[in-house]
Amino acid sequence: MTRILFIFALIVLIALGAVWLSDHPGDVRLAWGGWVVETSVIVVAVLALVFAVLVALLYRFWVWLKHSPGRIGNVFSERRRNKGLEAISSGMVAIAAGDADEARRQAVAAEKHLKGEPMTLLLAAQAAELNADDRAANIYYDRMMQRRDTEFLGLRGLINRAIRDGDIAKARSLAERAEELRPGTEWVQKHLYELALKERDWDAADQILNRMSRGKAAKSDAVRRAKAVITYERARAVQREKGDAAALPLAEQAHALDPAFVPAAVLAVTLTFAEQGNSRKLRKLIGEAWKNAPHQDLAEAIRATGSGEQADDWRRRAEEMVAPNNPDHIETHLMLARAALASHDWSVAREHLLKAGGDHPTAGILRLLAELEEEANADALAAREWILKSSVAPPDPLWICNSCGRQEDEWQSHCPACGSFNSFEWRTVDRGMHHPDALEVEVVREITAAP
Ligand SMILES: [Zn+2]
Repeated sequence: MTRILFIFALIVLIALGAVWLSDHPGDVRLAWGGWVVETSVIVVAVLALVFAVLVALLYRFWVWLKHSPGRIGNVFSERRRNKGLEAISSGMVAIAAGDADEARRQAVAAEKHLKGEPMTLLLAAQAAELNADDRAANIYYDRMMQRRDTEFLGLRGLINRAIRDGDIAKARSLAERAEELRPGTEWVQKHLYELALKERDWDAADQILNRMSRGKAAKSDAVRRAKAVITYERARAVQREKGDAAALPLAEQAHALDPAFVPAAVLAVTLTFAEQGNSRKLRKLIGEAWKNAPHQDLAEAIRATGSGEQADDWRRRAEEMVAPNNPDHIETHLMLARAALASHDWSVAREHLLKAGGDHPTAGILRLLAELEEEANADALAAREWILKSSVAPPDPLWICNSCGRQEDEWQSHCPACGSFNSFEWRTVDRGMHHPDALEVEVVREITAAP
């Protein structure tokens, strides 16, 4: 608006000047050296105006020239950028497809067009990983670590590498740095948790699990079991360092977290007896533990709470105090059968062994029946028959790793074969056929077999 007014005023001024000049005509005479120019004032005025317009145009041209290299450069850098982005997306597709050569080619192209961009570095590192080029991958991750905007991404790569190389301490310190950069990131928490477990740092694992499970997953059975296992291991560590009294609260906590978790039930009973003797609390605990976690190890622990007890006393206590809490369980029948065998009460022992065995007695139950025939009736023939049967009978339950199938007599928090945490389950081997992993293989086979 101001511009239009300005131009309008200018035109008016020029017109007024032209009118004024025509009203007051005059001559201009210019003499220079041998030259003499004579003309009217109007011509001089018009020439001056033309000169001014020319100077203005020249000035505009100069300004345009001054900025044009940037403009031309912008067009070029835009094209480079697009090429670089294309290379990055093609490279990412190649990585997803597992095409190592293509990934490396695209990484080189991206590096050429978009050098030093976060995505370029990431692509280069991933391509190096895919090509199993450890040195290059490390270089790119290190470069990512040096920039604030890519440090977190670089950490992720380096943590995974450290875990793969089995350098747990390094992986943990890198994960701690990642947690510092972005507190509460899920994958970082998961790594911190798993690494703490691997290093048997039970206190740290407990803290991280509490932090992680603060939300809705806090009530899931798996989380409660994991917490119970960790708390049990903390109790064991405290017991080794500070004795039974200090460990008891943790053992009780572990048992409360998952009453069906046998090792915690055993430890709670053992420590309660060690600290408080044969108290009312102990008797209540024994009843509740047998109800939720009946097991031969727990039976042994309960038996140990009757110090100086004779075989008959134990049989009576097992029958009157323990068994009624879970009367029909196979472990209850086995406990009563063993107690009866020890106190030479043959008919009761036979009755419980037959009940424990049901239609498909396990090898262990059949061997106890053989022992019974041998000791009760000195009937070697009958004993031999049970032994023969036991050789083709289903196996007894054991602690079996759900990840690799390893069998152990004693429960452990980590599988000694595959290193899995909390993978041991008390079960028989034949159930391994229905293991989820096997199922997964079946699913994959079905998919690949489909036409
Ligand atoms: Zn295993």
